[in-house]
Amino acid sequence: MTEILETEVLIIGAGPSGCSAASILAEKGHRVLILERDVFPRYRVGESLIPFTYQPLERIGMIPKMKASHFMKKYSVCFVQPDGRASDPFYFFTRYDRDTVAQSWQVLRSDFDVMMRDNAIEKGASVHEGVEVKELVYEEGRVTGARAVDRDGKPFEVRATITLDCSGKEAFSSNRQAWRVGDPYLNKVAVWTYYEGAKREAGIDEGATTVAFVPEKGWFWYIPQHGDRVSVGVVAEGKYLTREGVKDPKVIFDREIENNRWIADHLSCGRQVGEYYLTSEYSRYSKYGAAPGLLLVGDAFAFLDPVFSSGIMLALKSGVMAGDYVHEGLQTGDLSPAHFTGYSESLREGIENMRKLVYAFYDPHFSFRDLIKRYPETADELTDCLSGDVNRDFSSLWSKIGEFVTLPEELPYGMPMQAA
Ligand SMILES: Cc1cc2nc3c(=O)[nH]c(=O)nc-3n(C[C@H](O)[C@H](O)[C@H](O)COP(=O)(O)OP(=O)(O)OC[C@H]3O[C@@H](n4cnc5c(N)ncnc54)[C@H](O)[C@@H]3O)c2cc1C
Repeated sequence: MTEILETEVLIIGAGPSGCSAASILAEKGHRVLILERDVFPRYRVGESLIPFTYQPLERIGMIPKMKASHFMKKYSVCFVQPDGRASDPFYFFTRYDRDTVAQSWQVLRSDFDVMMRDNAIEKGASVHEGVEVKELVYEEGRVTGARAVDRDGKPFEVRATITLDCSGKEAFSSNRQAWRVGDPYLNKVAVWTYYEGAKREAGIDEGATTVAFVPEKGWFWYIPQHGDRVSVGVVAEGKYLTREGVKDPKVIFDREIENNRWIADHLSCGRQVGEYYLTSEYSRYSKYGAAPGLLLVGDAFAFLDPVFSSGIMLALKSGVMAGDYVHEGLQTGDLSPAHFTGYSESLREGIENMRKLVYAFYDPHFSFRDLIKRYPETADELTDCLSGDVNRDFSSLWSKIGEFVTLPEELPYGMPMQAA
């Protein structure tokens, strides 16, 4: 006989979105069970936090833990041209409060995700690791839980009042139900690895994220972490990175190093460690954000090209918002898809604002410098959106950017099933 567990809220995946939703709901006294396929600590990419990650972290009680952590503090971002010319660092404290939003972190995800998991457990959530969810269970068209297999291969079933899909960009429910919506243009490839002993800036610039350009709108990220480790990766069109038939991630990576003098110089004294990783799974969205008995959160809702490091902010923000909406729904007895309309609209607004900037960034006819030269007053709004303050009316910014480039139409994704 298959074992059957009962819970109020079932969460698939213990990443930042799953654990933030779990923290909110468990703190409000709901029974929350997270099923996580991996056994923590486990590797994950996505290591640079932007300033407006602060608010959701604060909401779930993580700020004191982050302040006491070993993570590298991040105060600024810097941009570097292929010939090695670096911009002055843009310090977040020139616009935001120095003691809160203006100081962010470069995290090691294996450690950060353990802290997030432990935080959810402290608030009262249960987490079962090494458990892979295999399928959703439906009764009369409504999701009523999921079937899973534990680390010993034993199948079991969980029955839940509501299920949250927080499975990341593997997008459990949207893949199985053919809800995937692609992005016509944002289909890049990333190759990345780690270095030890590579060059770092001094003082408060040590933890700065550097975005270093290579030809054809490609770019490197250079993210200094604690323990003398640097995360470094290159992102560009697949046809550019694999030109002349090159497929091996190490060869792709080594060739691009030579296309940016700052990167070549900074890595020259370092030692590459660990694997080379490659992903071509860039920017995709779920047609529906909610269905009867089911809510999608974080990358499972939408995964946007990470050029502006927005992923964890969006995962945490959506996790907190999902927690609030589900709590309200459990209290009022309304967990219909329509109840999540405001959730979907708010998440879509933030993602679409960020997506416009991502499109502009990759357009050969656009540069932020030219925009600010023509319209100096856009600098503050640009900074706010790039820092993650994404739920705002930026229509005047878009009309000015629209003079340089064609901004994308909004894509049809994320709305609840009935209202879509
Ligand atoms: C190349 C690259 C660079 C990036 N850089 C940044 C960055 O600098 N800053 C930033 O903020 N973001 C970055 N991101 C994005 C960031 O990684 C994600 O946005 C973030 O991890 C999303 O969190 P999540 O909780 O939604 O999903 P995840 O962190 O992916 O967590 C999902 C969890 O679900 C589990 N899971 C999946 N399927 C199942 C299943 N069937 N059963 C049980 N468990 C399951 C997985 O094991 C995983 O633990 C980057 C992404 C990429 C690809």
